[in-house]
Amino acid sequence: MIIVMKADVSSDSDEIRRIIDLAASFPGVSTELHEIQGSTRSLTEIYLLGSTGVIPTAPFEEFAGVERVVRVTEKYRSIGRHGSGIEAVGFEYNGVHFSQETFHLFPGLCAVDTRENVEAMFRALQEHGIETARAGAYKPRTSPYDFQGRGAECLPSVFELAGKYGIKIVSMEVTHESHIDEIQSALVSTGHPTGVMLQIGTRNAQNFELLKAVGQQTDLPVLFKRGMGITLSESLNACEYVASGGNRRIVFCLRGMKTNLGDPHRNFVDFGLVPAVRRLTRLPVCIDPSHSVGSRAVAPDGLLDVFHVTAQGIIAGANIVLVDFHPNPEEALCDGPQALLVSELAGFIEDARITRRAYEARVERATPAAP
Ligand code: PEP
Ligand code: MN
Repeated sequence: MIIVMKADVSSDSDEIRRIIDLAASFPGVSTELHEIQGSTRSLTEIYLLGSTGVIPTAPFEEFAGVERVVRVTEKYRSIGRHGSGIEAVGFEYNGVHFSQETFHLFPGLCAVDTRENVEAMFRALQEHGIETARAGAYKPRTSPYDFQGRGAECLPSVFELAGKYGIKIVSMEVTHESHIDEIQSALVSTGHPTGVMLQIGTRNAQNFELLKAVGQQTDLPVLFKRGMGITLSESLNACEYVASGGNRRIVFCLRGMKTNLGDPHRNFVDFGLVPAVRRLTRLPVCIDPSHSVGSRAVAPDGLLDVFHVTAQGIIAGANIVLVDFHPNPEEALCDGPQALLVSELAGFIEDARITRRAYEARVERATPAAP
C-alpha cells in the first residue's frame, strides 16, 4: 500500500510520524518513507510493506495531509503506476529535469578513446546547445580480446572536459560495483565539474547484485537498459531492484532485442513499447537507436536508419535519446560502424526536434480541450 502525501507536507512532519505509528500498529507491517524530488515540488510517499492486504485504507485517508491511498496491485511496486493512482513526477539531477514530459538528447562516444576525441565531441555538443552526453569508460565486450574501455584512468579528464564544455550529465555504463566508487572518487578529485548517470547495460540487466549496488546509493541517477533477451516484464522487475534499494531517480531505456528477426538491424527495434513503458511505470523512457540499428545504413529517402528509428521512438513519446557519435569513427575502438559523424549532429538534432513537435501536436490533438 502506498500513501501519497499532499505536496506541502514535509517528510519530517508530525502527521507523517503519526501515520507511520498507525501503520506500525498493524501486525506484520513495516514502513518506508520516500521523498521524490521533482523540478517544481517534492512528493512524499509512505510505503506500507508486509501483510497490508487486510489493512483498511479509511483511517489513513482521514489524515488532512494525505492526498490518496493506493493499493499496490501490480508487481512493479516502486516504479509502477498502479493504474492511474500514481503520477510520474520525474526527478531533477544536476540542474536537469527528467520526467515523462521532458525531452533530452544524450549524444556522445560509445567508448572513450583519446582525450582529443572526447574534447571534440563535447565541444560540438556545446556548440549545438546540448548539455547531456554519453561516454563509456567501462565496456562490456563480447570477446575478452576486444578493447575493454579506458576505465578509471580516463575519468578525471572526461569529467574535466565535460565541465569545460558545459556538459551537466554524462551517461556512463558501470559493469561492476567498484566502478561506482571509482566514478565518485573521480568526481570528488575533479571538484564535481559534471554529473554522472550510471548506465546499466543490457548484458547486466539481470545482474541483481549490481542493480542493488546502484540502487542503494542515491547520489547518482541510473539509466537502466532493457535486457536484450528477456521479456519487458522481466526487465521491469529487474529495474525494480534499483528502485527497491532506495534510488528512485531511474530512466528506463529500450535498445532493441537480440533476434535474427530484426535483420538487417543489429537488434530488433522495440520502440513501439515506449507508450507501454510510460503506462506501466513512472519512469522517463529512453531509446538507444545506435545499439538497435548497429550500422550507418541509409534508406532510399536519404535518411540513415538510425534517424528513422530515432523518429519512431520520439513520435511514440520517448523522453531521452542516447545516441553514438564519434569525431573520427574509423578510429573508434568500439562500435565505430554505427557512430554518427559530428557533421551530422545539427541534422540529427533538427530531425529529433521536428519529430518531437509532431509528437506534441499528436498529443494536443488527442487531448480534449478543457471546457
Ligand atoms: C552502450 O550503450 O554502450 C551499450 C553497450 O549498450 P547495450 O548495453 O544496450 O548493448
Ligand atoms: Mn556500443
